[in-house]
Amino acid sequence: MNKRDYYEVLGVSKNATDAEIKSAFRKLAKQYHPDINKEAGSEEKFKEIQEAYAVLSDASKRKQYDQFGHAAFEQGAGGGFSGFDFSGFDVDLDDILGSMFGGGFGFSSRTGRRNSKTRGDDVLYHMDLTFEEAVHGAEKDIKIDTSTTCPDCNGMGGHDEETCEVCHGSGTTTSEQHTILGSFVSKTTCSNCGGTGRTFKRRCTTCMGRGNIRKNRTISVKIPAGIDTGMRLRVAGKGEAGTNGGPNGDLYLEFNVKEHEFFKREGDDIYLTVPITLTDAILGCKKDIRTLDSIVTLNIKPGTNSNDKQRIRGRGIKNASTNRTGDMYIIFYVVLPDKLTKEQKGLFESLSKTNLENSMFNKFTKFVNKK
Ligand SMILES: [Zn+2]
Ligand SMILES: [Zn+2]
Repeated sequence: MNKRDYYEVLGVSKNATDAEIKSAFRKLAKQYHPDINKEAGSEEKFKEIQEAYAVLSDASKRKQYDQFGHAAFEQGAGGGFSGFDFSGFDVDLDDILGSMFGGGFGFSSRTGRRNSKTRGDDVLYHMDLTFEEAVHGAEKDIKIDTSTTCPDCNGMGGHDEETCEVCHGSGTTTSEQHTILGSFVSKTTCSNCGGTGRTFKRRCTTCMGRGNIRKNRTISVKIPAGIDTGMRLRVAGKGEAGTNGGPNGDLYLEFNVKEHEFFKREGDDIYLTVPITLTDAILGCKKDIRTLDSIVTLNIKPGTNSNDKQRIRGRGIKNASTNRTGDMYIIFYVVLPDKLTKEQKGLFESLSKTNLENSMFNKFTKFVNKK
């Protein structure tokens, strides 16, 4: 017989402490319990885990196993160990699962009946926002396809409720299995009622018995001002519908803010690059620019260079969480003319005969002519 080593099954070492064994078992039991794990083979796996734990958690059985291996528990072998009673162990297991889920999971330790009132899944929705929408906030309607409670059966899945005749309302079926290890009682979720303990005379045709239907819904959401790319917003109760009267999941909006043609954003601050002509840069001027919400007149100083910065306090983005408003920075960019008229060229030629150099140029000339 090809049986896996019990220590290997629980993933613990030969000299693992009782606490380590218990903790390994809890973890695996939670992972493979057939009421939780619906994957094929999980039930076999669970039984294997259960069996390994039954032996290794009992000091005298563990001792026998360490000495004789699996042979210790075969019929007639070892010290006349005839059969292994797993049924007494079942209660122990329920207690463990009961304490793991704190009772709030709908797991009853007495009957193993599953109350399948479950919360709906959360839904993540990716939303694009324009720069303005992100800055000022917006109200948007979004269309999402989620499950909603079936209106015809109110989420029950059918009409005219009856007690399940297979499990008599307990939600589980019990079968006795005889193995060479002895007989043990196996409890599984009732397949007739899916563990709810009730069935319906008429199945709901609107939802085909599922209790919820997929529906394209339009949800209006209010997006606060100051959103940035990557931020998430939770809209409570707008996710997938719960089952059997469980609460709805939540809807999460994740934002992607599109870039603006002129405004650049860094945190709560806004940057705007403003082109100015050569003469405006040299002589200074007044110039209208656009902030996030108005038009202001800038006073550009004579001798303004490319990359010179000017700050306008409090004209950045209002941060929804800190309530602080960022600043706006103007960055100047001197644009040289690409075409000159004859007259302009003449003016520049006369200008070039004058001395336009400043102290920085004098230093540089000295550096070039240095012997
Ligand atoms: Zn049933
Ligand atoms: Zn229905």
